[in-house]
Amino acid sequence: MAKVFITGVSGQDGGYLAEQLLAAGDEVHGLVREQDRPTPDGSGPQLDAAHLHVADLTDGAAVTGLINEIDPDEIYNLAGMSSVARSWAEPVATGLVSGLAAATVLQAAWELSERRGRSVRVVQAASAEIFGNPAVSPQDESAPIAPVTPYGAAKAYAHHMVHVYRGRGLHAVSAILYNHESPRRPATFVTRKITRTAALIARGEADELVLGNLDARRDWGWAPDYVDAMVRAARAETPDDYVVATGVSRSVSEFVAAAFDRAGIQDWAKYVRVDPAFVRPVDAVDMVGDASRARNRLGWSPTKSFPEIVAAMVDTDLSN
Ligand code: GDP
Repeated sequence: MAKVFITGVSGQDGGYLAEQLLAAGDEVHGLVREQDRPTPDGSGPQLDAAHLHVADLTDGAAVTGLINEIDPDEIYNLAGMSSVARSWAEPVATGLVSGLAAATVLQAAWELSERRGRSVRVVQAASAEIFGNPAVSPQDESAPIAPVTPYGAAKAYAHHMVHVYRGRGLHAVSAILYNHESPRRPATFVTRKITRTAALIARGEADELVLGNLDARRDWGWAPDYVDAMVRAARAETPDDYVVATGVSRSVSEFVAAAFDRAGIQDWAKYVRVDPAFVRPVDAVDMVGDASRARNRLGWSPTKSFPEIVAAMVDTDLSN
């Protein structure tokens, strides 16, 4: 039984991770902000058996104190501003939460490891956004770090700090996660916005879907699979960087077509309007990851196909 500490336990990934580890019998501690405490209506993650600690990840003293008190075997640093779109409006907050805060976690984990003579295993949730607008496709762990968004720059700092602390002997992993979706994805992400609106249109409760760039291509995977990759990476013998991706990218319009089809609407184009307000100042054209290292070393592979992911999301939205 491992004792784990998860920051961002109230988010999509943190919830799935906590559920997976609780089911396996691990002792799960989670960090939540006061305003993000899970709602007891049963719609979110089932965290009753987890120990929740209320603090803000940017409160270094509080987070360090908690890590010392919990004395975890593993730390998953998943908290952060998860929206690339929002990072343009809030670049400083993004830098503090998704970038600098990782230094607090890594330093606290390193000091604790030194004291007890055994390394805490830290997994930092990095992002494909650290590669910016990549010249190579697909990207593996050797792709140049060249972010083009405030979110990507913050995540790149955290990724570099993982390397710094790995150099000091900490068992620190950087999981370079490509887009990963689920029915728990907030509608700030394009996938959930599409599936939710498709369900509303199918029920006659909305008449259009307003989007930005329809040609952007993303490598969309299934969030619980990505959480599983992080656990495997934490528990591997040596720490490393791992791209976690399906290896296939699709355009936003392909996602729209698949979602509308699932909702029973064939002529999706007549419901979709492009509004420049949703087009970003800079946006990667095509992100697609090569997860060979995770497949070969961790025995990881995605369990859900693109149509299955779309179906799971649309079906949830149709039933709500
Ligand atoms: P991201 O890749 O982490 O930024 O995930 P998102 O789901 O927010 O965006 C995926 C892609 O969809 C990006 O290329 C966006 O520019 C594009 N996109 C097009 N229209 C929209 C929209 O209305 N909302 C969002 N969030 N993204 C959109």
